[in-house]
Formats: sequence, C-alpha cells, structure tokens
Amino acid sequence: MKIVKDVAEMQRTADEIRRSGKRLGLVPTMGYLHEGHMSLVDEARKNADVVAISIYVNPTQFAPNEDLSSYPRDFARDEKLAETRGVDIIFAPSDSVMYPHKQLAFVEIEEVSRVLEGEFRPTHFKGVASVVAKLFNIVKPHMAVFGQKDAQQAFIIRKMVSDLNFDVNIVLAPIVREEDGLALSSRNIYLSEDERKKATVLYRSLKLAQKAVGDNERNLARVRSEMLELIASQSTGKVDYIDFVDPDTFSKVEDVGSLERVLALLAVRFGRTRLIDNMILETRPK
Ligand code: AMP
Repeated sequence: MKIVKDVAEMQRTADEIRRSGKRLGLVPTMGYLHEGHMSLVDEARKNADVVAISIYVNPTQFAPNEDLSSYPRDFARDEKLAETRGVDIIFAPSDSVMYPHKQLAFVEIEEVSRVLEGEFRPTHFKGVASVVAKLFNIVKPHMAVFGQKDAQQAFIIRKMVSDLNFDVNIVLAPIVREEDGLALSSRNIYLSEDERKKATVLYRSLKLAQKAVGDNERNLARVRSEMLELIASQSTGKVDYIDFVDPDTFSKVEDVGSLERVLALLAVRFGRTRLIDNMILETRPK
C-alpha cells in the first residue's frame, strides 16, 4: 500500500495507473475508518483495479462552531485497517497541501445545498462539493464511491458531476449499521453510554415511518408527528429536522402521491453529538 501526501505525486501516480489501462477507484473519507468506509472500499474494488482512499478532515466544510478540532483522527489505525482491506493507495494530504493559498474558487450546488442539512449547516455543502472537486482533479479516479448514509451529500456530488461534466462514475453504497440499528459513524464515539443506547431511536423512528407508509399512510406530516413522538418519549435527543423528499429530485414532499419511493431523512442531537440517518421508504403507489 502506497501513502501519498503530495498533490503532484498523487497526480503522477494517477497518470501512470491510467496510462497502464487500469481503472482507478476513489473512496473519499475523513478518516477514523469503520466498517461503513470499508464497505465503500469493497464496492470500489468491484469496479476498479486500483483502489485509493483519501483521508482528509476538510476544514472548509466545518462552520466555526462545529467539531473540526475535536473530530476523531488516528492515522496509524486507519493505515492498518486500509491495508488489511486491500486498499492500494492512501491519499492523506495536510491542510497546507490542500490549501496552500487563500482559495477563491468554490463549487456551489444551488437550492439542494440550502435545505435539510443545508439549513442547519449553511456553508457545509459548498465546502464538501469544492473539496470533492479538488480530490477528483488530484486523484483522477474513473469512479468514486459515496455512502447512502450521507444521502444529501451523495445527491449533491452526483448533481455536481452531471452539471459540470466531471468524467467520473459515482457509485452509491448502502448504509452499514450496528446490530441494534445505529448507523456507523466516526462521530458515534462522542456518545456517552446512555446516549449510545438511546441513539437507536433514529433507526427505530425510520422503521416506524417505513411501516406507516407501507401500511398506506399517505400523509407524511402525520408520519413526522409519530416519529417526533417516538423520539421524544424514548430519548433526550433534540430533533433538527425530519423531512421527506423525492429521492430523484430531493424536493420535499408532504404527501406520498404517486411516488414509489420516498426518502426520509433526519438529524438529531444528543448533547453535543449530532447524528444523521435516512431510509428509503417503499410506498404502495396508487
Ligand atoms: P466520512 O468519513 O464520514 O466523511 O464518510 C466518508 C464516506 O463514507 C461518505 O461517503 C459516507 O457517506 C460514507 N459512510 C459513512 N458512514 C457510513 C455507513 N454507516 N455506511 C455506509 N457508508 C458510510
């Protein structure tokens, strides 16, 4: 496994791989790797001959009041995990490598960056889209894998790739969960023992929504109320949002209408830890 920290060296390495006729896959991450990230590596392996993973906690996607400085980091552990899983290249740049000068060019995905997560983190997706654009230009992958865990992010990256004609194929991988349903996340280690137990309420509320919609409930405001009630009765979690969108457009929906699938998304805070989760609800279209 090769570890690359420099932009020019990564670009040279990518050029050599591409010239040799091999397909290069990229899994962008912020490190502190877990099985969710590893499932993305497996997905990349199915589609590519050489698998690169980037490990970079990108400051421009964190607001000043967010957890940039406390975000968990453990490169030695990440390196071992990646090696065991058969990763070929780790691209792990420093801040001065990624942002050597004050950056003035950014990618903005309008409208969809302003809703849901974007309402609570107004500058987040500008930072995400811009760093992913940089990573695509540095690692030059044929394909890149993103997790459905961050459904809005995945939608935004796909929109960027399609609107700006990036020559990279985006593949989505399903959410990996703990046995009790909690979606794996690097941020789960912030949770106290009690919060960790209560945090399963996110998944349980999504299952409740799946059941309601499967039982032909069409009114999503009612489903939201049931979810809020469950979360309030079984945890101290503070809900930032519970929303339902058309998975193909990310526009909000309040009624199932003729949709065959509705994407339910939520963000809940436990103390200082903010968790997000989502589920595609299969409806019973009329
Ligand atoms: P992060 O390091 O949190 O920025 O995540 C890097 C990538 O891993 C993103 O595409 C995430 O959506 C994905 N990811 C994170 N957690 C999970 C999970 N539990 N299951 C599947 N993918 C995940």
